[in-house]
Amino acid sequence: MEKHEFDVAIIGSGVGGLCAGALLSHWGYKVLLMESTSRLGGRCSTEEIEGFKLSTGAVALHRGGAFEDICKEVGAELELVNMPHQFYRIGSIEGESYEMPSKGAIPALLDIVSSLEANRAKMLGHMAKEVAVGKVMNLFSRGVRGEEKAEDITFRDWLLKYTENDLAHKTFDSMACNVTSYHTYEVKASEMFALFARMGTYAALGVSSSGNEENMKSLEVVIRSNGGEVWTECPAQRIIVENGLAKGIIVQKDGNGVEIASRAVISNAGPTKTVKLAGEDNFENSYLDLIKKLNPVGMILVHVASDKPLCLERGELGGALLVGLRRLTSAFPLTNFSSELAPPGKHLLYCVGSSPSYLEPINLEEEIEQTTLDLRDQFPEFSRSGRILKCEVVYQELPQPGRVRIPRDTPIKNLYNVGDGVQALGEGGTSAAAESAKEVATIVKKRIKL
Ligand SMILES: Cc1cc2nc3c(=O)[nH]c(=O)nc-3n(C[C@H](O)[C@H](O)[C@H](O)COP(=O)(O)OP(=O)(O)OC[C@H]3O[C@@H](n4cnc5c(N)ncnc54)[C@H](O)[C@@H]3O)c2cc1C
Repeated sequence: MEKHEFDVAIIGSGVGGLCAGALLSHWGYKVLLMESTSRLGGRCSTEEIEGFKLSTGAVALHRGGAFEDICKEVGAELELVNMPHQFYRIGSIEGESYEMPSKGAIPALLDIVSSLEANRAKMLGHMAKEVAVGKVMNLFSRGVRGEEKAEDITFRDWLLKYTENDLAHKTFDSMACNVTSYHTYEVKASEMFALFARMGTYAALGVSSSGNEENMKSLEVVIRSNGGEVWTECPAQRIIVENGLAKGIIVQKDGNGVEIASRAVISNAGPTKTVKLAGEDNFENSYLDLIKKLNPVGMILVHVASDKPLCLERGELGGALLVGLRRLTSAFPLTNFSSELAPPGKHLLYCVGSSPSYLEPINLEEEIEQTTLDLRDQFPEFSRSGRILKCEVVYQELPQPGRVRIPRDTPIKNLYNVGDGVQALGEGGTSAAAESAKEVATIVKKRIKL
């Protein structure tokens, strides 16, 4: 069998794998990164359909988050445009959208909800269901600052203690789906507080102006220019483990097995796959039980093409947090601020939605039907010139709500996980994946001297 030697072998080119590879090669380690598909970036990449550049998952990257920090450190060129404005769109009945202030977005949203509720009650001649904005915000802010006792209850149950207002609940539910991929009736109050505490530290949201894959390729350039290699269409088949120590990888290249000897192995394939690749027999039952607490969580991803811009009703240009719809929870009319993502004269809208429960299997046909109804309600131009280019369910391996986090190192010495599956409490998305890469790369640097 063909053999090669590297300091570090990395399985998978998601944000976690590429960030770990770029950091380590920048620090002088000889890195090999292998990716099973032909495309770099995993769920932060680009798929081209009919000249439209579609994201394979993420679209809104946190400015000032770990991903941007790593790109700066390693000198990777990052093309991002800031999302100009963000809006709230509340329900299909009220038909109004509101600009999100850059600071104090949640109290502003609850004030809107409160006045909508008062108007609705006046019209129907009954008592308004109080939102208690001041009280909810005061306690929410205490929770975010870590001053509220973290009870072991869901966020919905926490909120129910202060308000029964349906729109207020739907508002928080939409935010929860967007930042945690879970509903408020699934995620724990403590997790929501931790996430919002972290989100307050991000400056803005940025969109890759020529598609995510271009930014991922910038990290590939860093690895290659520091003497490392990146192999695509090369699935890792087995992690070589001897006496509790990771020694390398068997990878398939051009139809043949190739042995890679390395001093550390980093897996971005997800902890469940990592265990399979290294062989279950090499792990104690307590670790295997921990891994069972990960869940494949599906998010609905919809790409819509149109001849005219699919803005909200009043022509608002930015992204929108959608509240109280059947499925959709956010929408970003990408070509309104990055025209390169569609063929000349065409427009692209990216939407994300959540099905009612992560525990139930997702029926794609049903999701497409419900999503289409949401699109018709929210974007008047959709029925005239829009069409769904692609609607899919994209799965992420995430810790179950309220469950213990998976450590980034493993019981096998020199074997580490990076990516979504090992995100820490209070982290999410690409920033969390990059954060895990930074931690693992730092451990490897300490343990393996050049
Ligand atoms: C619909 C949706 C919308 C999202 N929106 C946002 C957003 O707006 N902002 C944000 O920050 N985050 C968002 N996220 C989350 C974001 O996409 C992820 O947090 C991030 O991309 C995670 O990357 P990862 O490091 O876990 O790697 P992954 O993306 O999981 O990549 C893993 C890679 O490993 C490869 N691989 C697997 N097995 C092998 C093997 N045996 N050999 C070789 N290669 C292998 C895979 O092919 C893949 O390329 C969204 C996610 C989804 C699903």
